[in-house]
Amino acid sequence: MPPITESVAREAICRLGASIFSRGLTFGSSGNISHRLEDGSSLMTPTNVSLGELDPARLSKLDAEGRLVSGDPPTKEGFLHRVMYEGRPDAGAVVHLHSTHSVAVSCLAEIDPADVLPPITAYYVMRIGRLPLVPYFPPGDTRLAEAVRPLVGKHHAVLLANHGPVVAGTSLSAAAGAIEELEETARLFLLLQGHQVRHLTPEQVDELRARFG
Ligand SMILES: [Zn+2]
Repeated sequence: MPPITESVAREAICRLGASIFSRGLTFGSSGNISHRLEDGSSLMTPTNVSLGELDPARLSKLDAEGRLVSGDPPTKEGFLHRVMYEGRPDAGAVVHLHSTHSVAVSCLAEIDPADVLPPITAYYVMRIGRLPLVPYFPPGDTRLAEAVRPLVGKHHAVLLANHGPVVAGTSLSAAAGAIEELEETARLFLLLQGHQVRHLTPEQVDELRARFG
């Protein structure tokens, strides 16, 4: 897929933000989106703005070292995006949401921190795979970046405890598709609480990983 231009990336971020907000996948001014550009700079959603009201001209543009080049000041959670890009050279975009069902799962006491959600559907296995839980830190605490850093090489998606998911993708649509699959799987997981459930078997999961990576 050819790299997209900065103006196309600006429009795509704003379109995705409006779509996410209109579907109730994040609230208030929570959630943030970034897109890496071909020259190593990146676009990021600004601080204190609703994803439903993004302006392409006011997105934060950061240089390869993370310094603001133009636009409004970036989200205070920008360090989460940077740590994902540093650990995943193939990542073209990162999306972080406070999506309700994923946050609810991140608060459960009885989840496996090495792999939070069971293999309920094939699409979850294909788009997320294993999902580690990152210990809780207060908003803006950069120790969170240090907790995420060792996980990023092996995982393109992590769940921050009592907070929400962060997902990287090769493109904006890949990152968005994966975080939406995660939110939907979290919803299914909660719906199925108290029921006898047939998860995919280890053999079925292995077959998916062999076929789809
Ligand atoms: Zn957050």
